[in-house]
Amino acid sequence: MEKIYLDHAATTPVAPEVFEAMTPYLEEKYGNPSSLYQKGQEAKRAIESARAVVADFIGAAPEEIIFLSGGTEADNFALKGIAYANKERGDHIITSVTEHHAVLEPAHFLEAQDFKVTYLPVDSQGFVDPEQVAEAITDRTILISIMHANNEIGTLQPIGEIGRIARERGVYFHTDAVQSFGHLPLNIEELNVDILSVSAHKLYGPKGVGMIFIRKGTRIVPFMQGGGQERNLRASTLNVPGIIGLAKAVELAIDEMDGEITKLTGLRDYLIDELVSRIEQVTVNGSLEQRLPNNVNVCFDAIEGESMLMALDGQGISVSSGSACTSGSVEPSHVLTAIGVPPDIAHGSLRMTLGRSTTKEEVATALDMIVQTVANLRAMSPVWNR
Ligand code: PLP
Repeated sequence: MEKIYLDHAATTPVAPEVFEAMTPYLEEKYGNPSSLYQKGQEAKRAIESARAVVADFIGAAPEEIIFLSGGTEADNFALKGIAYANKERGDHIITSVTEHHAVLEPAHFLEAQDFKVTYLPVDSQGFVDPEQVAEAITDRTILISIMHANNEIGTLQPIGEIGRIARERGVYFHTDAVQSFGHLPLNIEELNVDILSVSAHKLYGPKGVGMIFIRKGTRIVPFMQGGGQERNLRASTLNVPGIIGLAKAVELAIDEMDGEITKLTGLRDYLIDELVSRIEQVTVNGSLEQRLPNNVNVCFDAIEGESMLMALDGQGISVSSGSACTSGSVEPSHVLTAIGVPPDIAHGSLRMTLGRSTTKEEVATALDMIVQTVANLRAMSPVWNR
């Protein structure tokens, strides 16, 4: 059976070029970059050129890049690191209700330690209103954390505008760019961000590695204490092969980005248009204009998303219902409920995220199977009466 992978927001395969770049650092170039002899220094040099590549890609200085284990760690670092370092200045954080759990959970954790958190609502397309951000700022606000691209519905937030407001008011601004980094152009000056989270496995790099951009001069508490690596901000022996893989993934992204944006936007819109025209009672979630090029998120009335996911899996198609991180939970997606989708409809959601290798033929095959599966499930559904 032909396998069709349409869940690139959950993770991506390691690109062959990335694998090839990493291999020497798993085999002969295994030195610890903190070691002073040649083998260590060879690894250190590789890390520093990787740092220069990723820094340059977002318009940062190399010393503003800290390597760590991925998006979850970067988000935790941003929230807790800023909160603890600035608590004499203030105790208030602003974020939004549609953030990834990697932001929401540290926010809840900080609330339990007497920090105050404002969770801004979003509109029906998932947008945070920059004016509401401005209104929420008090003289106790130390951090604003709003994601760049939503992992479920693909909505792109007006980050540049929110960042400008944050800067004018002297508040640190963090954005979780896990879903957009490597897929869209990103510049820290244009976005006005102070801290930015990245995960390698979303852009054809390996799992368990990522980075955080921290603007020079930002007051932040180190996330891990230990051997003093990463300018004392994140101790632990560096994941050399992973970091080399991340930098290679960035180089590939630079080469492929323009073509990929055009290709994926075309396939995405084809998929959306066909779903809407071939299936009754479908809602498209998220903004159609300000959207990740690869994201399709729809709700089918009278369908259980999980049943849909399993039925499609049986036919070799990998998709997600809600988000992969919360698949298996019976709660409807917090993102869909936040944009006003009623819980019974939200249960019927399907997220399809296209990738570098996705072809029009794959999308067409998936479409036929989705159309058929919706018909089959609805035929068995007690709540579908047509
Ligand atoms: N933030 C967003 C928006 C994500 O989509 C994800 C992963 O799905 C994460 C953070 C967590 O990243 P990681 O898997 O690298 O911990």
